[in-house]
Amino acid sequence: MFGEGKGLGKTILGGKGKNLSEMVEMGLPIPMGFTISTETCDIYYKNNKTYPQQVIDEIEENLKRLEKHMGKKLGDAQDPLLVSVRSGAADSMPGMMDTVLNLGLNDQSIQGLIAKTGNERFARDSYRRFLQMFGDVVMEVPHHDFEHALQTIKDKKGVKLDTELGIEDLKEVVTAYKAAIQKATGKMFPNDGREQLKMAVDAVFNSWNNDRAIVYRRLNDIKGLLGTAVNIQSMVFGNMGETSGTGVCFTRNPSTGENKFYGEFLMNAQGEDVVAGIRTPLEIQELDKVMPDCYKELVKIYQGLEKHYKDMQDMEFTIQEGKLYILQTRNGKRTAAAAVKMAVDMVNEGLIDEKTGVLRVKPEQLDALLHKQINPESKKTAELLTKGLPASPGAAVGQIVFSAQAAHDRNETGKKVVLVRTETSPEDIVGMVASQGILTARGGMTSHAAVVARGMGKCCVAGASEIAVDEHAKTLNVKGKTFNEGDVITLDGSTGEVFAGSLQTMDPELSGDFATLMTWADKYRKLGIRTNADTPHDSEVARKFGAEGIGLCRTEHMFFAEDRIKAVREMILADDVDGRKKALAKLLPFQKEDFLGIFKAMAGLPVTIRFLDPPLHEFLPQEEKDIVELSQIMNVDLETLKKKIEDLHEFNPMLGHRGCRLVITYPEIAEMQTEAVISAACELQKQGIEVHPEIMIPLVGFKSELDFNVEIVHRVAKETIARYGIDLEYKVGTMIEVPRGAVTADKVAETAEFFSFGTNDLTQMSLGFSRDDAGKFIKEYVVKNIFEKDPFQTLDVDGVGQLVQMAVDKGRKTRPNIKLGICGEHGGDPQSIEFCHKVGLNYVSCSPFRVPIARLAAAHAALK
Ligand code: PEP
Ligand code: MG
Repeated sequence: MFGEGKGLGKTILGGKGKNLSEMVEMGLPIPMGFTISTETCDIYYKNNKTYPQQVIDEIEENLKRLEKHMGKKLGDAQDPLLVSVRSGAADSMPGMMDTVLNLGLNDQSIQGLIAKTGNERFARDSYRRFLQMFGDVVMEVPHHDFEHALQTIKDKKGVKLDTELGIEDLKEVVTAYKAAIQKATGKMFPNDGREQLKMAVDAVFNSWNNDRAIVYRRLNDIKGLLGTAVNIQSMVFGNMGETSGTGVCFTRNPSTGENKFYGEFLMNAQGEDVVAGIRTPLEIQELDKVMPDCYKELVKIYQGLEKHYKDMQDMEFTIQEGKLYILQTRNGKRTAAAAVKMAVDMVNEGLIDEKTGVLRVKPEQLDALLHKQINPESKKTAELLTKGLPASPGAAVGQIVFSAQAAHDRNETGKKVVLVRTETSPEDIVGMVASQGILTARGGMTSHAAVVARGMGKCCVAGASEIAVDEHAKTLNVKGKTFNEGDVITLDGSTGEVFAGSLQTMDPELSGDFATLMTWADKYRKLGIRTNADTPHDSEVARKFGAEGIGLCRTEHMFFAEDRIKAVREMILADDVDGRKKALAKLLPFQKEDFLGIFKAMAGLPVTIRFLDPPLHEFLPQEEKDIVELSQIMNVDLETLKKKIEDLHEFNPMLGHRGCRLVITYPEIAEMQTEAVISAACELQKQGIEVHPEIMIPLVGFKSELDFNVEIVHRVAKETIARYGIDLEYKVGTMIEVPRGAVTADKVAETAEFFSFGTNDLTQMSLGFSRDDAGKFIKEYVVKNIFEKDPFQTLDVDGVGQLVQMAVDKGRKTRPNIKLGICGEHGGDPQSIEFCHKVGLNYVSCSPFRVPIARLAAAHAALK
């Protein structure tokens, strides 16, 4: 019974049951009732949807106690007890499971209700509502059957609104509803109250596993619950005349967080009238005018409840003939902005302590504050075309373009564009910069498009497998619909949705509270937070968001700019060392310039620069005109050049000639990159700017590979530093991203001064799932529960995590003070960050727009 739940907690009673029990204990006006525990739901499913007689006996025993408490009997013809039957799991899942109201009404008890209330219309109306709800929820009669029956009678009577139906009309509706139930199910509507109750309880248990509920649990990461509890509560009525009413209220504003009582109510109405929107509810403050005593009592109660639960409460109340009842209370759902404001306000008010404040905001929620969003209102009427992977959050509205060039050109004329590609190649980067967002048909969460877009804080929907892109015909096909260049679409990178036309967007707002919360988070976290950035601009953005250095600067991204790509191609296609050195000499000043900018932006902080990583053919020209132009620059004939390009083709480039392997073949590349890094650092140090360069060698699986690379770095660095005549400190380390590198980390650490876990490649190679192709089928793995999460997004702790742990242990054994970080995409994922905290990494590194999320996630990990 409510009031007797002490010590059971919400795991057993569900959130609603626990709070009802507590409110009764506090002496608040709660309609009495009892809770069937979540354990019973568990038993129900384990027992092939039945439960033992003992449970049935206990329900009967408590029902009798409730009848005694209320002085009424279920189904009684004189003074019937009516109850609501509601779900209530440990984690709230609003609207996902089933509810039945007015249970206990039948052809006899309706007489009692009429006699007791003296309001026949109200009683008849309650009866037909009950039939409809019971038929729909418990007996699974199509909703439409009831609507059809009701409409037929309204038409016959010539009325528009339900409220215009009189007593006799409602009697007809009841008869029609019963007939509809019998027709649809072949069964009679159960007259017996106890039979009704048993059926309703089963229906609530069944709704635990309806599609909505399952999807909701998956989306909200709700796991490990026993099931739902069922709350059986005596009914009170808000529709018993002008001194009755019902409403929903929040102790603070759930969309803005403002500390002001917020809510709506309707007089002479039942709960669903408030939700259904047939009548417009009034603002809660108006209740003070209509029923001042009830309002004052409600205010006192809400203040008490917020103090008790130390969080914003979402409450339902009903006033029955001047008497106020609280039907339920729970911690209210809120927007990201409201979550931040409430957490900070509540700490300042002394309601909660700082640590609790920090834990109140989910790291993922911050995402919404850091990017443009689509106005949810405008989504309601928009045409949803398809859904891809939510690869990079934010919103993009623009004209479709199918090439980087077109994106650039249209953008120059002031048009907003969305780049639509089958998949992106590194060459598209210029087009990506010029676009509002990127849509691709192929590629996963760590595909090039996704990684680059996240880095730029640009909206991206990747792997939208239902779209067909014809780059030559310049058409986009979605489910039989064709879009041409210039047509407008809207992307929601936070959900993966693609809409036709232009939807309204809202700008991110970083309030002062946000900064305050971040300062608190910084106090408690143990992990350092760095960023993955390749440009001075990204570095500045990240620094503003609180980055404490760069954990990964991908130097290849610098080679795609128009003024450099030609020299890169020349280098790749050169016949000999001299030819390559000549081309590299052209690149050197550009690289040095890049590093000068980045070091300056990160003055005083460490900057990890990773040497060239991708397979060389990624840089090669694809278009005939580019190949012709290159052959002229290089003074080689076209056919020879084409043959060379063909020779560079690899069947599996991700496992091919890339990373440190390139330097084994072409040591000149490492020579040039070392000179660029070290000379930029020396120059700035001479100017009095503090620099901390860290050179990182990618894709190392063998200590001998690393040694070969590091020898070059030290040799060239020594020469360069000597030239400047100063002392410069720098570090050389490696990425751990090849499983063999992790397994032999003790050996690798003999040379490496730091490790940075490249968990994108480490995941790809450990699982044997190509990071470029897995996006196509991983969704199915998640839907079919083979994987809980996409392992490219959330670290596979049991598998890949073991390799990380092993490398941490082995690395520290050889070199106790070795610096350890992570720079794969997992470095920005809260759940993976918790793992990084546990294994004791020194820092995580993530894209600039995820830095605040990582700061908060690291604090959560430490506080938990
Ligand atoms: C990685 O593999 O995790 C990594 C950070 O490197 P990249 O994504 O550039 O291969
Ligand atoms: Mg890698």
